[in-house]
Formats: sequence, structure tokens, C-alpha cells
Amino acid sequence: MRRAVLGSTGVQVPVVGQGTWQMEQDDRASAVAAIRAALDVGMNHVDTAELYGAGRVEEIVAEAIAGRRHEVFLVSKVLPDHATRRGTVQACEQSLQRLKTDHLDLYLLHWPGEHPLRGTIEAFEQLVKDGKIRAWGVSNFDVAELEEALTIAGPGRIACNQVLYHLKERAIEHAVIPWCQKHGVAVVGYSPFGSGDFPSERSAGGKVLQRIADAHGATPRQVALSFLVRDEGVFTIPKSSNAERVRENAGAGELRLSDDDVAEIDRAFPLRKPPRTLPVI
Ligand code: NDP
Repeated sequence: MRRAVLGSTGVQVPVVGQGTWQMEQDDRASAVAAIRAALDVGMNHVDTAELYGAGRVEEIVAEAIAGRRHEVFLVSKVLPDHATRRGTVQACEQSLQRLKTDHLDLYLLHWPGEHPLRGTIEAFEQLVKDGKIRAWGVSNFDVAELEEALTIAGPGRIACNQVLYHLKERAIEHAVIPWCQKHGVAVVGYSPFGSGDFPSERSAGGKVLQRIADAHGATPRQVALSFLVRDEGVFTIPKSSNAERVRENAGAGELRLSDDDVAEIDRAFPLRKPPRTLPVI
């Protein structure tokens, strides 16, 4: 599994990590086994949030990582509604309780909200000082919001921006990825399979993925994931509650696409014009 330093955290994490959204709707034993399978293959970047299943997913993650906390690069997120200076600290402490740990490796603001960003960032820095989080970042931030965060926090503080990124939605390539690369902020792409809308094998794009996959002895989903992490400082976090699929997804971390492969995928799933607002789920 290819690993890279995740922004200012200084920590090497796998370029393909593990998402957990909606896991509370899956068979619990399968979800737990899937997260453990991810750790077994070195896919130890585990992404969760207080939002997911209203805290129940953090409890599933706790069960999966019990006794293995030291192996995990654990990420959770505060809801914008909670993201006042005091509310952020409280939300973090509740996440820590549900996750049965004393610290997070990374804590994110889930999306920009109504509460002043300065208060959220002050809370994040307090949590770092108190040893409750190792680093912090943001999610669903467009360039203007990233600029605001940078102005408040100063350089080298925003570890990542977690944003929507899959073959049919490449908007972040216009401005968000270049901004993040310039400022040493990692980009963590979410919903890499379009959150259940992966190109069908009968579609023109699906056939391109299959052809490239066959040439590498890989699968179309591995090709898609590998394309999404082709650039420096870009990570991805597919979700699966199925251990076999988790191992398939992790396999993408070994796959190196050629320049021709990348060009072919680029033609099959072209970058559209920049949208007026950042696409989110
Ligand atoms: P994904 O694009 O990762 O797709 C998940 C779906 O794909 C599930 O239905 C899963 O089913 C299926 N799947 C996964 N791997 C395979 C495979 N190898 N073969 C066939 N099917 C597969 O969607 P998500 O929206 O969950 O995004 C990933 C993660 O990103 C989230 O879980 C969450 O952690 C994060 N996220 C963050 C957001 C934010 O605002 N910051 C917003 C949305 C997501 P199954 O489980 O049954 O295998």
C-alpha cells in the first residue's frame, strides 16, 4: 500500500483509507470485520464523524479498533451546528468517549457553518494543546473558505480539506487541489465511487475502466481509486462494510497507472466547466 505524508500532520498514511458513513445501516459484525480487514492490509486511515448514525458509527469503529488503537490514524468530524469554541471541545470529548480513545489523529469541521470559523479554530488549537487531537482540518471548504481559515490559523495548521471527488465529479481539480498543493494542505477525496453511483460495466466509461483493469490484472474500482490518488497530496476514503471489498479497495494502493491510462480515463470522464459552488454530498 502506497503511503504519503498527510499534510502538516507529518504522518504517513495510506493513499487509500476507509470510510464509514452509513455503516450503522449495515450488518454490525460485517462492518466491524471490514474495518479490521482494512487495518490488516495497512489501510489504517479510518474516517468517521459524530454525524454518522448520530454517533452509532463511532461506536462501531470503537468496537473494530479495540486493542488496536495504536495502529489507526483516526479521524472524526464536528458538526457545524456544534462548532462554537465551547461546542467543538464538547463534541470532541463526546466523540472520544464513543470511540473509546483519549485522542484523535485528526479532527475536521464537517462543512462551513454559521458559527464564526475563528472560534472553531481556537477550539481545535486548544484540543491540540490538551492532547485530545493531534491535528485538525476542514471539509467541504472552497477556496474562499480555505483562504479565511489560512488567514485565521496561519500557515502549516490546516492538515487537510476533505472534499467530494470521483470520476464523474472532478470539480476540485479546477481550484481546490491547486490551492491545497500550494499551501501544503492534503486533499482527502470522499465518495470515490460516487456513493453508490459507480459507472456501470455497460457504459462507455465503464468499458474503459475494464480495459485498463484487465491490462493491469486489476478491477475497474481499483483503477478508479488509483486515478483519484494520482496527484501528490491527494488521498481517498472508499467505504465498504464488506471485508472482501475492503481488500479490493486497498489493492488500488499498489496500482500505478501509466500516463496513457490516465489520459484515457481523463477522456472518458472529462473535467467539466468549474461549477459556481463547490459540489458536496
Ligand atoms: P463511496 O463512494 O465510498 O461508496 C460506498 C458504496 O460503494 C457502498 O455502497 C459500498 O457498499 C460500495 N462499495 C465499496 N467498495 C466496493 C467494492 N469494492 N465493490 C463494490 N461495491 C463497493 O461512498 P461514501 O459516500 O460512503 O464515501 C466514502 C467515505 O467518505 C464515507 O464513508 C465517509 O467516511 C466520507 N464522506 C465524507 C463526507 C464529508 O462531507 N466530509 C461526505 C460523504 C462521505 P458496501 O459497504 O456494501 O461494500
